[in-house]
Amino acid sequence: MTTLAKHPFWLDGSFDRDSVEACSYHPAHSWWTFRIGDVLDCEWSGRNPDENMVICRACYVPRCGYTTEADPCILPRHHPELHLTASGEVEDSTRWPGSEKPAPPDVGSAR
Ligand SMILES: [Zn+2]
Ligand SMILES: [Zn+2]
Repeated sequence: MTTLAKHPFWLDGSFDRDSVEACSYHPAHSWWTFRIGDVLDCEWSGRNPDENMVICRACYVPRCGYTTEADPCILPRHHPELHLTASGEVEDSTRWPGSEKPAPPDVGSAR
């Protein structure tokens, strides 16, 4: 018996903005870092088992920022807001005028 997930759940399209906003941890979410090989069958999915992944432990949405980034964005992936990094930097090269989504979470003690 294996305890590995059969499908790469962050790639199957099962998360969308509605389910992300319905998460009880939204907008901060509860980020959980894991080694892909510990969770997924990498032969099946073709992923690198040593790659680290960050998802919300409640709604499974992947985090926008990768673990390999020095200052990763802490919002859920595919977010319409500006990127917001763990250090509080707001990336301003992308503009999403008219967004009425909640303000970014307070990241003062996120680390
Ligand atoms: Zn969540
Ligand atoms: Zn981002």
